[in-house]
Amino acid sequence: MNRTARAKDDGGAPKRLLPLRISSLILIFAAALIAVFTCAMLYVGKLSSEEADRQAYDSEISLFRHVLDSRFIMLARDQFQVGVWDETVKHVSLDFDQDYVADQIVSSLWYNHGLDRTMLVGPKGDLLAYARESEVDFSPQAAALDPDLRALIAKSVAQYMKNRITIKGGFSARAATAGDRGVMLSDIGNIFEGAFQTIEGKPALVSAMAVVPDVNDVALPDGPPVVMVNAKFIDADELAYLRQQLGFRSLDFVPAGKSADTTGAHEDIKTLSGTVVGTFVWQNASPGAHIWSVILPIVVAIGALVAVAALFMAQRLAKMSNQLETSERRTRHMSRHDALTGLANRVRFGEALEEAVAGLPQQPFAVIACDLDRFKAVNDTYGHAAGDIVIRAVSERLVQEIGDSGLVSRTGGDEFIILIHAFTDKRRLDLLCAGIIERILKPIPLDGGEAADVGVSLGVAQAPLCGITGSAILRAADEALYAAKELGRGRAVFAAALEVPEDPAGADPEAAPIKAAE
Ligand code: GH3
Ligand code: MG
Repeated sequence: MNRTARAKDDGGAPKRLLPLRISSLILIFAAALIAVFTCAMLYVGKLSSEEADRQAYDSEISLFRHVLDSRFIMLARDQFQVGVWDETVKHVSLDFDQDYVADQIVSSLWYNHGLDRTMLVGPKGDLLAYARESEVDFSPQAAALDPDLRALIAKSVAQYMKNRITIKGGFSARAATAGDRGVMLSDIGNIFEGAFQTIEGKPALVSAMAVVPDVNDVALPDGPPVVMVNAKFIDADELAYLRQQLGFRSLDFVPAGKSADTTGAHEDIKTLSGTVVGTFVWQNASPGAHIWSVILPIVVAIGALVAVAALFMAQRLAKMSNQLETSERRTRHMSRHDALTGLANRVRFGEALEEAVAGLPQQPFAVIACDLDRFKAVNDTYGHAAGDIVIRAVSERLVQEIGDSGLVSRTGGDEFIILIHAFTDKRRLDLLCAGIIERILKPIPLDGGEAADVGVSLGVAQAPLCGITGSAILRAADEALYAAKELGRGRAVFAAALEVPEDPAGADPEAAPIKAAE
């Protein structure tokens, strides 16, 4: 069979879509799975890293506030050394002694505790002394006390006034424990106030404490007490101290009015009235980054595993699909082709005939029914295998003779049917039939050097001339073949044209021609 005829004969093979579609679907599914998994993991990672960062930030803020609070307690303790003392009451509150102030109070607070500023404020809010480090000014300007500082002093005074107790000769601060000693360090909350302030234009931790007796050998007069005010500037030393206490990777202070980098952790500090004194900024810990360093490799590893598994499955399924398709194609081919010759079988021929009938009347065609002459004798003489050789040889000769002009099929033992669509005129069909008869008549070599000698009889039906349905055309060709056999074999007989009745309504369009003509 030549290539063109074979190609036509293969009509209806399924397109190769299945393996591609299944493996693509697996890959798309895997890609979607990886995408969903990756998004979920990234989302979880984002949530947990944000939560970790938030918690770390919160605990840093809380530590920061705690350290600043304890810084104020340290200030109070420093003040307590000289401010809660009978001697100081005697030399400051009852009788203001400049030497005592300079030598006992200011010196102690500056040299021993490093407090940058010391102020003593009288009961009427008058500024009695103003020490810059160890230098004391005993006639300072009251204007040095700004409203925020005055508010702080007022709070300290109010604390004292609220909590003071009566003792012999006057008043003293309330102490939690009764006994020989009066105010203890633990009672400091009754007389002390701390806040951030700007002193002389510099940010500072400021504390104000009422000057009170310690063992109550002396008593304070009625009215507000003298208040000792101290300031510790937030300078490099102070920052170094806080940094060391906090253990942060960095800590800086940006005074109000200067722009602070607030992308990291930061906390404003404010005066009592809420005025911002400045901002502490530090590089906060980011445990979230650590979470990412754990999660990302897991995401990549699982994603890669899923991808590899998907590729493997897609490959296996594509292979299985290919095998299925091949097997299905083979089954389909076998169901429509003759096993001995590879020619189209009756099923395939029936399809081709139906297609041809559908093209009528615009596209006429012809059917040639063939039956070998004297074939049984080959079987009887040389055996069944030799008969098969003859059938195969005949099929090849028919295909060679027909070429591109039509489709050759084997429909029975030594029966073939040919569908001719290239031409339908009787002259060319005659020539074709003569060619077929001549070709088949040539001896067919058999195994063992012998040759079989068969002929062929042909019945030709032209469509729509002899019928317009497949069965009518086939019947006409069969009857013509029968006539050819009857007339002595080795010849072609054409089926007669349909007789067109005068009254078309009474005509049977499927009626086969009764009369065959040679
Ligand atoms: P006629 O001229 O009247 O057609 O007679 P014939 O000898 O050709 O015999 P006929 O067509 O009546 O019979 C065909 C024989 O072909 C009958 C059957 O034994 C034989 N046959 C059918 N199929 C096969 C086959 O596949 N292989 C072989 N070797 N023989 C087959
Ligand atoms: Mg025969």
